[in-house]
Amino acid sequence: AKVEEKLFQNRYLVDAGRPHIKVKAHTVPSPSLMAMTTLCPAGCYTQTESGQVEVAADGCLECGTCRIVTRKTGEIEWNYPRGGFGVLYKFG
Ligand code: SF4
Repeated sequence: AKVEEKLFQNRYLVDAGRPHIKVKAHTVPSPSLMAMTTLCPAGCYTQTESGQVEVAADGCLECGTCRIVTRKTGEIEWNYPRGGFGVLYKFG
């Protein structure tokens, strides 16, 4: 649980009303987007009862996995959070 112990030291500053990752409107998610519900290390992606995939970017570690996995489907908009917001990594 070494990684978890380190993750626990990170803090997250929410930029209210300005999520840095958005899932575009869709009816059926591609397999890539669907995979994010299990791949995101922060558990930001979930599937709704009607089958769409949504993201709650609070707690995002900015690892870039979702950006890479969906780069061909173009289903998400991904930007770094504004300066000062987002994950605040604490090393050591
Ligand atoms: Fe999850 Fe990483 Fe995407 Fe953030 S960048 S939502 S932590 S997969």
